[in-house]
Amino acid sequence: MEKSIALIDMNSYFASVEQACNPGLRGKPVAVCGEGRTIVVTASYEARAYGVKTGMTKPEARSLCPAIIFVKGNLDKYIDTSFRIHKIMLDYTDKVEIFSIDECFLDLTHTAHLYGGDVAVAKEIKKRIKESFGLLCSIGIGPNKVIAKVGAKLNKPDGLTVIRKSEIAEKYLPLPVGKLQGVGVGRRIEEKFKMLGIKTAGDLGNAPPEILDRLFGVMGKMYAQIGQGTYDTPVKSYREQDAVKSVGHSHTLARDTKNLQVIRSYLQMLCEKVAARMRKYKIKGRTVALIIRYSDFDFFAKRHTIRQHISSGVEIFRAAWEIFEKECLPLDLPVRLVGVSVANVEADAGEQYVFEEMRKKEKVQSVMDEINNKYGASTIKPVSLIISEKFGILERCGLISTRVWVD
Ligand SMILES: [Mg+2]
Repeated sequence: MEKSIALIDMNSYFASVEQACNPGLRGKPVAVCGEGRTIVVTASYEARAYGVKTGMTKPEARSLCPAIIFVKGNLDKYIDTSFRIHKIMLDYTDKVEIFSIDECFLDLTHTAHLYGGDVAVAKEIKKRIKESFGLLCSIGIGPNKVIAKVGAKLNKPDGLTVIRKSEIAEKYLPLPVGKLQGVGVGRRIEEKFKMLGIKTAGDLGNAPPEILDRLFGVMGKMYAQIGQGTYDTPVKSYREQDAVKSVGHSHTLARDTKNLQVIRSYLQMLCEKVAARMRKYKIKGRTVALIIRYSDFDFFAKRHTIRQHISSGVEIFRAAWEIFEKECLPLDLPVRLVGVSVANVEADAGEQYVFEEMRKKEKVQSVMDEINNKYGASTIKPVSLIISEKFGILERCGLISTRVWVD
């Protein structure tokens, strides 16, 4: 039996959620921005029509589209909406694998016939998501995850693309390798492919194995299979996944910096944010990852697993800073973005704190949370956070200056 895998990709997800929540934003050019340097995270299709894209700064976006409305992103709202969308998908199969906040793989192989086939299921899911949330999605259907994902990208917004096994030669192999981004092929890998004269998926599939092997090692075989459209991994069932696999925050600095005090302070702020979210979800984790993007956009990420599950900002920071000191110092380049995430999570039952001191810490923390919930985030905070906040406020007011923060 031919497999039927679907990838459901929500269209301009964050911006669409904001438009769904606020009728005043509907039909208008909207850009959801992150904190910090206020870069466009997602633009609505109305804004995209003016050329506004993810990654642009606010002034860039405004110069293209003077009527643009900037909205501060609310990740918790998007996560919550995602979970509600998952519930719809779970009506058709238990094999729903969360790929990202706005993308899921569905294995419909054994259940689609109950609903009139996979195309009928896809149409029904689209209809229900639109009716329930006012959101559009693009769906790709294929014999494996790679083809489903590539297919979903071919037709946006509100698209439905089906590529059957028998159509791989006609519809998949001629696609440029750039279309394979996001299925294991990054931009740098794509550049390497292009240098080798590999222009299409088919070229990649036909590349001499020894060359792929020499250049990419164990990944070479995978790339060849991706090129041939035969790379196949199972779709995980929803229950196999933790509801929250990891909790992370990142922040683009107001300007690139080598100032360790600034970097340290931002990292502390992010660790506190991660910790607050972990407490909200009642989870704790063992793997702390540090993410650094340098001024040349080069990316560093390293994770470290510790013996004990942790959930406090101080402990998360300690682990993240240890990675930073060990792996990133001395800094060759200014830092553009810092991020931290905690993975390997499990439910925090609350009784694990057998040591008196830890219990005390926990108590202080929950009181702090309570106050912050009542009077607004960060009413009470470790003193060290004030530096990053000052930095952030200066930047928000357009007052940031090299006189204040000189490396
Ligand atoms: Mg999307």
